[in-house]
Amino acid sequence: MDEECDYLFKAVLIGDSGVGKTNMLSRFSKDEFRLDSKPTIGVEFAYRNIRVKDKLIKAQIWDTAGQERFRAITSSYYRGALGALLVYDITRRSSYKSVGRWLGELREFGGEDMVVILVGNKCDLGESREVEEEEAKEFAETEGLFFMETSALKNLNVEQVFLQMITKILEITN
Ligand code: GDP
Repeated sequence: MDEECDYLFKAVLIGDSGVGKTNMLSRFSKDEFRLDSKPTIGVEFAYRNIRVKDKLIKAQIWDTAGQERFRAITSSYYRGALGALLVYDITRRSSYKSVGRWLGELREFGGEDMVVILVGNKCDLGESREVEEEEAKEFAETEGLFFMETSALKNLNVEQVFLQMITKILEITN
């Protein structure tokens, strides 16, 4: 870890293949993008240093590199993760239906007080919407998750969603 960083936070991206996880990650890591990969376990991650309140945080975000279906990675993927973005595609109802299964996995392999944000991506495609914002919001509330809609394509709310997750993790850590 860099000398000047106060914390290193690991967080994971989960959700069905094709919902936009990789695009969200490259938006967030922008010019500071640094991609490492562990092809053996089908995982990639990127780092970004980000200042929240008066702390400098090194956020290490893991992405599945298209290996969502391969269950072998699960325990190492979630190990030590303090946050998760559970992403679905607002234009693909099947990806929203999978959220319950992803939550089950999170609860099995993730830590007790992990910060989880339910993310409805591709909100730029409103005309093809299959999942209403209100429905997902209510579901998130009953499950104790935060919720936000984003567009990785138009760069809407992407920064905010990562920032919200990191801020909440910081609140819990302190
Ligand atoms: P992953 O499999 O979850 O990592 O999804 P990707 O990031 O590879 O994205 C899957 C496809 O959805 C790609 O063709 C992206 O260009 C597209 N995509 C990702 N995010 C958005 C978005 O916010 N809006 C639109 N319209 N397309 C998106």
